[in-house]
Amino acid sequence: MNIDIKNVKFFDSFTRSIITQCMEELKDSEFALPLDRKEKALRVLKVFYRKRGHNNVPKAGNNAILMNLAYWQLEKMLLSKEKTIWIKEYNSFDKDREIGGFTLDSKDIVTAYTSDILHELSHFIQYNLYYGVGMKTWSIMRKPHGNGFKSVYRYLRNKYFNDVNIRNAFIDKHKEIVLGKTNRTNVIELPENIFNLPIPENGKAIRSNAKYVQLYSLIYNNELKVSDIITAMKIDNSNPANKVRVYISDLRNRLKDIYSPTIAAQILPTKNFFNNAFEYGQGDQNSSYKINPTIKLD
Ligand SMILES: [Zn+2]
Repeated sequence: MNIDIKNVKFFDSFTRSIITQCMEELKDSEFALPLDRKEKALRVLKVFYRKRGHNNVPKAGNNAILMNLAYWQLEKMLLSKEKTIWIKEYNSFDKDREIGGFTLDSKDIVTAYTSDILHELSHFIQYNLYYGVGMKTWSIMRKPHGNGFKSVYRYLRNKYFNDVNIRNAFIDKHKEIVLGKTNRTNVIELPENIFNLPIPENGKAIRSNAKYVQLYSLIYNNELKVSDIITAMKIDNSNPANKVRVYISDLRNRLKDIYSPTIAAQILPTKNFFNNAFEYGQGDQNSSYKINPTIKLD
């Protein structure tokens, strides 16, 4: 079963599930970390879909695991017309039989992404040994892709990934954990940040300088009246309430495209203002907006 690369919610849960297992089992290895590092890994993890910007490739360090689903290798797979593709690893060890690149069905983004998780998790482990346990003991971990990193990554690759049967069982297990949960709870949770909203089919990513991002952020954590929005956004024209209506429509349309009209209406209820706007022309300055970040489906 193929999973849409823009399904951030799936990949977020999938990554958490894999990191949880790896970190729990790591304590029996030479790379054992203090127990709280599993929670730390899950706390600093961010899974997102972002086409541009400095964080385009997945990366990780002592205090971050950043997994971008829009990075070039996964994009290349989506565009590939070949049946198989070489999943490239870091140049200096791309040819290593255990931690190097590998040939994969070009549609199999979940498996390619799983190797990214193991690679980035290895960086997190590497730097938590170096900065967290001791720079003297773990001086081998200092270089980003040095021997220390390679030994951690080799451990994870051999344990979970290099044998194709073990790998498939590992991936299927975590897929099932995530999809089972999703079906059981029937809850839609909006991401904490607007940039992590899934991008609608044929849609554009949200630009960080777009004016309605500011509006969205404003109403995300507050319940705002139209008059507050006009003040906060410094909207200065002959019909500012109508301008607010335009912004809200843009946001609602995006939510509709992502989640369906019914769900969008629950996330951002707009009925009052839209009715009032038609009635009064200027709109109702006292109407208010609030994003509901969690929606329960019937
Ligand atoms: Zn790396």
